[in-house]
Amino acid sequence: MAKKTSGRPSSHKHKKQFGQNFLNNGRIIDQIVAAIRPQMSDHMVEIGPGEAALTRPLIERVKKLDIIEIDNDLIAPLKIQFASKPAFHLHHTDALKFDYGTLLDEGEQSLRIVGNLPYNISSPLMFHLLTYAPYIEDMHFMLQKEVVDRITANPGIKAYGRLSVMLQYACETEYLFTVGPENFTPPPKVESAIVRLIPHKTKPFIAEDEKTFSDIVRQSFSQKRKTLRNNLKGWLSSEQIEQCEIDPSIRAETIPVEGFVKLANRYFQQHSI
Ligand code: SAM
Repeated sequence: MAKKTSGRPSSHKHKKQFGQNFLNNGRIIDQIVAAIRPQMSDHMVEIGPGEAALTRPLIERVKKLDIIEIDNDLIAPLKIQFASKPAFHLHHTDALKFDYGTLLDEGEQSLRIVGNLPYNISSPLMFHLLTYAPYIEDMHFMLQKEVVDRITANPGIKAYGRLSVMLQYACETEYLFTVGPENFTPPPKVESAIVRLIPHKTKPFIAEDEKTFSDIVRQSFSQKRKTLRNNLKGWLSSEQIEQCEIDPSIRAETIPVEGFVKLANRYFQQHSI
């Protein structure tokens, strides 16, 4: 079957430092939009519109679309293309530093975030966005497949690590589908995938102090081959780990999110007195 393209030849010089791999296949774009399921009542935020492959279909289907783009050269073409669309609001800025709370209109509860993300900033950007989790209904991202594998991995799987624990603590995570390099211009070196993240309205397990939780998770995975007892030396003793109903001789990669929450709370209780 002939490939359906997004149909916009471009003279834009793709910039590697901004992770510019633009979607070129209309079928994949349709598949992503179908997965997002935009609604006319939605206030959506698109990070990194590029040449608007996703912006074009989204802008027709939502109440408001805030767009965040860093590349100066893409700003004028975006303005020209969408100036007449009432839903369109462009922010020429760095998505990593942006205050997403400022986007909420009076009385508004939540934003939906989407983006074919520049791979070099995807993890810090997701951590930044998680600080706004109470104001986010859901997020749909295109990321490196390997990163989506890590985000959605279960304990005991090789891909399970700090990113899995931190994102699964805050969100329900779902691997949606894989997208091959040929669907981008220029093609990236690796496969990509779409992930859905839905911040928990009520977290299943609550860390009393999220900074401690983050520190314990980082420390537990600091040396992947070492046991929990070794990685947490100076933080929690074997006895204290056992009090959390966790075997200190296992490795962090087999411990579910709940276990890290218990360890963090154990540590926090002891040090907050
Ligand atoms: N959405 C377009 C598509 O799917 O074809 C482009 C996606 S491209 C992978 C990533 C986009 O994010 C580029 O337009 C790039 O300029 C932009 N970008 C990169 N770093 C950014 C940042 N820190 N803040 C905002 N936009 C950024």
